[in-house]
Amino acid sequence: MDITRELAAFGLALPSDGDLTAHSPIDGSITGRLASSDATAAIDRAATAFTQWRDVPAPRRGELIRLFGEELRASQDALAALVTLEAGKITAEARGEVQEMIDICDFACGLSRQLYGLTIASERPGHRMSETWHPLGVVGVISAFNFPVAVWAWNFALAIACGDSVVWKPSEKTPLTALACQAIFERAAKRFGGVPAGLSEVILGDATVGAALVADPRVALVSATGSTRMGRAIGPIVAQRFGRVLLELGGNNAMIVAPSADLELATRAILFSAAGTAGQRCTTLRRLIVHESIQAELLSRVERAYSQIRIGDPRVAGTLVGPLIDRMSFEAMQSALARARTEGGTITGGSRVDVAGLDGGFYVKPALVRMPGQTAVVREETFAPILYAFSYTDLDAAIALQNDVPQGLSSCIFTTNLREAERFTSASGSDCGIANVNIGPSGAEIGGAFGGEKETGGGRESGSDSWRSYMRRATNTINYSTSLPLAQGIQFG
Ligand code: NAD
Repeated sequence: MDITRELAAFGLALPSDGDLTAHSPIDGSITGRLASSDATAAIDRAATAFTQWRDVPAPRRGELIRLFGEELRASQDALAALVTLEAGKITAEARGEVQEMIDICDFACGLSRQLYGLTIASERPGHRMSETWHPLGVVGVISAFNFPVAVWAWNFALAIACGDSVVWKPSEKTPLTALACQAIFERAAKRFGGVPAGLSEVILGDATVGAALVADPRVALVSATGSTRMGRAIGPIVAQRFGRVLLELGGNNAMIVAPSADLELATRAILFSAAGTAGQRCTTLRRLIVHESIQAELLSRVERAYSQIRIGDPRVAGTLVGPLIDRMSFEAMQSALARARTEGGTITGGSRVDVAGLDGGFYVKPALVRMPGQTAVVREETFAPILYAFSYTDLDAAIALQNDVPQGLSSCIFTTNLREAERFTSASGSDCGIANVNIGPSGAEIGGAFGGEKETGGGRESGSDSWRSYMRRATNTINYSTSLPLAQGIQFG
């Protein structure tokens, strides 16, 4: 696939030399050849940039992000087109992903005037205590293929406003969108003037390049998004050097549908959250836990909706489900379906779909699998459009099932019963980082803190007070008296 024109929109030439090949999942063809980066050199530059950037007043730093947001607005369609080519998202979702970048820029710009610390009552006369939030250092961002630009932006916009420099290792499956993001940022930096070289670095390559970022003690925070396998590999390495991690790992998200639910609403939510993005969101709906009294009715509605989904070229208007990222992903889906069958599942859909002219792409019918219960395969995340459905009789048991998986990212309940809704969102309800009522588990807004518990890694990024991960806290005690009282009333000498 020739993407010369799409890259030219960012002033980029088609990269044609190097050890990495970029592909488009639309037809499986090669889109470019790129060279792996030297991570250490990039960290050197970022570490130097940090020493200058941390002293720039926070509202000025916010101004740079405001300009970046403006540039993103101007490039929204061009960047979304590249996301579609490289990650296979349909145009509407790709535009939505870039919109998230714009939204977080607005948020981070406002935040740059609100990096508040507390003033704390001192127990000693003539003393004042307060806390100050300072920039942290170099932030390493490792990102997954399925949100090739938004996840970086969630980290980047906050980190820059907080006074850090950023080194980004995008997924090896989506290097070109990363280069485009850097080009957009450079436009903003040029307008701002005086941005230190190395404030934003992109390093291309596979896990070995990421590993260099993880191991380097100058990288104060490693914010990594991807599989639980990846998090398990990098977490101990960063811990060993007492660095900070922010992990955003796999999910296994559920919806409980109660007898009082609005089934029309639930069906629409299921369609978007289970089949949308070809099942390749960390928050994709993977488990449907339905009250036995409405199971037949709901599943027949879902089947009807699934039969109308248009699967194919994500660039074409009307397509709802584009390709899987690659052959490996297709094979993982088929093997999960085979296991589901041996565990008692009855499968509708799931087979490969031929799309004319796009033979090298892996297009599939989203699968709906009726399961006898929450068997072993259901407890794993398979990054493909497979929805496992099983029934419940009692809400407590349904909540226990929702929680009885290793992952803890997103969850929801569809009910019009206030007691059930409150029970689900209470301390003894869902154990996930995201617990919704009458909304599917996917498609979060940037204003809330995003992330999950257990094997999802415990990190929170984006809105609320997630910014604190990108700063260090200093407690300051100021003595403005003429004596030196010790805390706890200690007399010494
Ligand atoms: P992946 O784990 O294969 O790769 C993610 C990134 O980690 C890539 O950049 C990869 O090069 C890098 N990496 C892998 N091993 C590494 C190592 N040992 N050291 C350093 N870097 C390493 O994931 P993927 O297939 O790109 O993405 C899909 C996964 O990401 C799914 O599990 C999905 O749930 C998860 N995800 C989670 C969130 C979230 O916010 N929780 C968001 C998006 C995706």
